[in-house]
Amino acid sequence: MRHLARVHPSTEQRRSNREELTRFCTHCAELFGAPTAPADKPLRGRVCGNCGLGVILTCSSATLTAPRAAFLVVTADLRVSASSRAAEDVLAIPDGSYGRPLLSLLTSPAGIGELARAVIRAANGTLAPSTIPVLVASKDLEARIGGCGNPPAALLVLEPVAS
Ligand SMILES: [Zn+2]
Repeated sequence: MRHLARVHPSTEQRRSNREELTRFCTHCAELFGAPTAPADKPLRGRVCGNCGLGVILTCSSATLTAPRAAFLVVTADLRVSASSRAAEDVLAIPDGSYGRPLLSLLTSPAGIGELARAVIRAANGTLAPSTIPVLVASKDLEARIGGCGNPPAALLVLEPVAS
């Protein structure tokens, strides 16, 4: 069940070049700095040289601010297409979260509709993150949600609620 090759309208592909980007591994969540490939030739499906398990994606450095974060990569149809090692620890699902519907893993006190809208907006190319409270495995957390790619998806960074 993968819909990663879904084509989005070109108007939704517009991304600000001024936005600062960083590359990250979907498994070990190591950060690799700004992309080196030209924007029109994104590196696709490159395997992480650090852990050998994740692939390298790109997101706004405002979304992913530190290495080894707990995050989920979610497609526009609200399914988990990748999750970091730290996120699997938070979710504590024996078989892992891959392929599961996002809304079976977490809810939001702000409303599921609000959460779904933020995820779909990010998956459609909005890189700048927004933050929404979430409830994950009975824990109150915050999800910082911004776009990532390539292919396009939403990145949900799970963090303790800022005090
Ligand atoms: Zn890695």
